[in-house]
Amino acid sequence: MVTRVISATGGPTGPDVEVVVVGAGFAGLYLLYRLRRLGFSTKVIESADDVGGTWYWNRYPGARCDVESIDYSYSFDPELEKEWQWSERYATQPEILRYLGHVADKHDLRRDIQFCTRVEAAHWDGDAALWRVRTDRGDEIRCRFYVMASGCLSLPKTPDIAGADRFKGESYYTGRWPHEPVDFSGKRVAVIGTGSSAIQAIPIIAQQAAELTVFQRTPNFSRPAKNGPVSAAKKAGFDANPRAYREAAKLSASGIPRELPLMRALQVSAAERLAKYEEAYQSGDLLAMSATFADIGANPEANETVCEFLRGKIRSIVRDPETAEALCPKNHFYGTKRPCLDTNYYETFNLPHVHLVDLRKDPIRTITEVGIDTASHSFEFDAIVFATGFDAMTGAIVAVDVKGREGVALAAKWADGPKTYLGLMTSGFPNFFTITGPGSPSVLSNMVVSIEQHVDWLSACLVYMRDEHLTTVEPTPVAEAGWVQHVNDFADITLFPRANSWYMGANVPGKARVFLPYIGGVDRYRKACDEAVRSGYLGFAFDGPGGARCNDGVIRRVQPDVAIVLELMQQFGVPALDTLSVAEARALTVAMAAQRPPGPQVGEVVDGRLPGAAGPLTYRVYRPAGAGPHPIVVYFHGGGWVLGGHDSDDPFCRDLCVRSGAIIVSVDYRHAPESRFPAAVDDGFAAVRWIAANAAALGGRPGQLAVCGWSAGGNIAAVVCQMARDAGGPRIVGQVLVTPVTDCDFTRESYVANGEGYGLTASLIRWFWDHYADPADRPHPKASPLRAADLSNLPPALVVTCEFDPLRDEGAAYAAALAEAGVEARHLACRGQMHTSLPSVDVILSAAAARAEIGTALRRFFGRSAPPAVES
Ligand SMILES: Cc1cc2nc3c(=O)[nH]c(=O)nc-3n(C[C@H](O)[C@H](O)[C@H](O)COP(=O)(O)OP(=O)(O)OC[C@H]3O[C@@H](n4cnc5c(N)ncnc54)[C@H](O)[C@@H]3O)c2cc1C
Repeated sequence: MVTRVISATGGPTGPDVEVVVVGAGFAGLYLLYRLRRLGFSTKVIESADDVGGTWYWNRYPGARCDVESIDYSYSFDPELEKEWQWSERYATQPEILRYLGHVADKHDLRRDIQFCTRVEAAHWDGDAALWRVRTDRGDEIRCRFYVMASGCLSLPKTPDIAGADRFKGESYYTGRWPHEPVDFSGKRVAVIGTGSSAIQAIPIIAQQAAELTVFQRTPNFSRPAKNGPVSAAKKAGFDANPRAYREAAKLSASGIPRELPLMRALQVSAAERLAKYEEAYQSGDLLAMSATFADIGANPEANETVCEFLRGKIRSIVRDPETAEALCPKNHFYGTKRPCLDTNYYETFNLPHVHLVDLRKDPIRTITEVGIDTASHSFEFDAIVFATGFDAMTGAIVAVDVKGREGVALAAKWADGPKTYLGLMTSGFPNFFTITGPGSPSVLSNMVVSIEQHVDWLSACLVYMRDEHLTTVEPTPVAEAGWVQHVNDFADITLFPRANSWYMGANVPGKARVFLPYIGGVDRYRKACDEAVRSGYLGFAFDGPGGARCNDGVIRRVQPDVAIVLELMQQFGVPALDTLSVAEARALTVAMAAQRPPGPQVGEVVDGRLPGAAGPLTYRVYRPAGAGPHPIVVYFHGGGWVLGGHDSDDPFCRDLCVRSGAIIVSVDYRHAPESRFPAAVDDGFAAVRWIAANAAALGGRPGQLAVCGWSAGGNIAAVVCQMARDAGGPRIVGQVLVTPVTDCDFTRESYVANGEGYGLTASLIRWFWDHYADPADRPHPKASPLRAADLSNLPPALVVTCEFDPLRDEGAAYAAALAEAGVEARHLACRGQMHTSLPSVDVILSAAAARAEIGTALRRFFGRSAPPAVES
């Protein structure tokens, strides 16, 4: 049991200082300022001989920020905002370094910074409840809290090139540039690498060098920065109300105020798309291109339109077609590697003394004493510039020997990828914080905004602990695992994991391939951090004289795209359907359906009519590409027996068709309240009989017929299987019930837990039932198939349920009851999904895996196993 209180320092076993901070860049400086003001004794340790971090080390020619300086600056000191005027839209490294020096002077920060000192180890002493921090000077500092503000891009990657240390000429590293001026005049210079730093440096080095040879492994997308003085409009926008501007930045997705697009690239004409891209291109704004359309980051086809636009620009600038082609990125989607801004980068390759070596065609064999040998050439150089990037996000953290409880090494814990809660802390390492750590927006945002948010959060946490007499804090394994899952879930609905980028750790040999930052946005992330605090520090365990306390739990359980859809529905004030008349509800669902992405292409779509139980019914046939005959799936749409029609689940039917390789016949049925129970199921059964009898005419393979339905359609599919069994046919080879209604009991746990807030509400389900069936009819197995006396001898089933669906438990109960009755039944429980997730093709991307499983299940029913190649 820990007994020491947080404020105690000194003494033989107490801490020397309350907080040790590693790093004196943007993060360390603000942390020192904030903690000092809050009365925490703080020591910053910095390996450089001055403040600045990134801007101390990266002094290469052309180094400058590519987030506009007005945005890329502190917000905590309104006075500073008035007294510091940026001379350019994108300030140079010397100007940013001067700015940070000015901040350090203004707030007298240097007196608590120990320069020229490297932290080598930090070990948690559980008995004393403090960290023992060891430096390369041999001293040990005991502190209660250990914070790594050590930078996401501060540990340059050692070039993994044979012979890198053999070169006898001048070698330079962009991330460790000398303080003395470097003069390339008259020299033969090589630049290895074509990332952000190289793209900034190459045009300037080319102005001096006699010969410049650029060695490129992966071309990157770059656009003109259009640098110059800060624009009057930008300045006026900021000056009008700096506080409001900063607030908007904090609540934005990237840390820079901006409206997010709702329109999808593939929804508009090619001309409209190009106009938007041209505008973004001309803006010189780093994030403008990704912000043109909503689907650029997630849809490969949409993204390719941007890639091709930018390739067109490269081809129009670079005169030599072979060089132009080599400079065109073709192996990654736009934005999945950090995009760049440049001044005359591509133009530089038109200069007669500038050459490009495409390492994919002519790889480096070795660096020699005099130059570089590739597979086909020997080059001689006077100087080599290594612009080979950083061991990003985790490199500087695990470079220190950090050991937590029981002597567990952080490097070992993170060997398969970093595990953090909110990117702030990691379990098993009490009182250890990372600023802009992995699992936070960090490098995907305007980092100053993200740094300030982390510092403010951490400071508030320390104040809370002091007030509450708590000594230690650490995240719980449950909270951490939940957050890691959420970070991955978010990345997985984007194109990012497909690129070999430093975001994925792919640039460092042996590094785990894991998406490192949090892609959900600064706004959403801040909300999660604040919510954790408001929920009694959800997921954090505290201990100390104030008592042990922990409100364990997971901060984000809903799939990220589900959350986005729910947010948008709220934002647009979509009314609850059960507050509308039936006619209004139908009109609204039709209008909303018109906005959906269309779903994949299928071979053919044909409408027809078939005889229902009491008159003709409309159906729509989706035929796969390729010669038939194909098996047939009779599909029943959702809509609570009240809404929808043969075409209302169009994207889902297309998706089912492509994934299953079967003909999908989406059948309409009579709706309530005009035609109440059992009209819908009687129509469903009549349709199945007719389709079975006419399978060959529909292009189907007789005898290979399955049923599938979503929601109320799942109810109809389940009932139809029971009716077919009882009637002795037709033979149904399998049933897929997607979040089906199987019972009229509204008291199950999932009704209580998910009755509100996840699209389909408990009250809407009641509204549907009221329209559909009298209370006396509802327990009938044709309305509540779960209540059938006999569930044996039914077709094999796949029952899909969603975690955040009121209908979840009755779906699960039906799957269990089928299995109990000896039916081959599988239950697919979709984590983090809501009732409408499965049919939301190309909207809820995280449900694509479940849709694929449905396709596989249908193929199995039909005795075929090879799944088709389907995107997403
Ligand atoms: C060339 C370049 C341009 C960039 N441009 C932008 C931009 O336009 N917009 C943007 O948002 N971000 C940009 N970034 C990212 C940039 O790193 C951050 O914006 C920000 O400067 C990070 O500040 P920091 O204090 O977190 O880390 P850093 O500035 O990296 O500071 C960390 C400090 O910790 C010290 N340190 C690390 N380990 C130890 C140790 N063991 N012992 C002692 N000291 C240690 C380092 O010496 C370093 O000084 C850029 C990065 C680079 C490299």
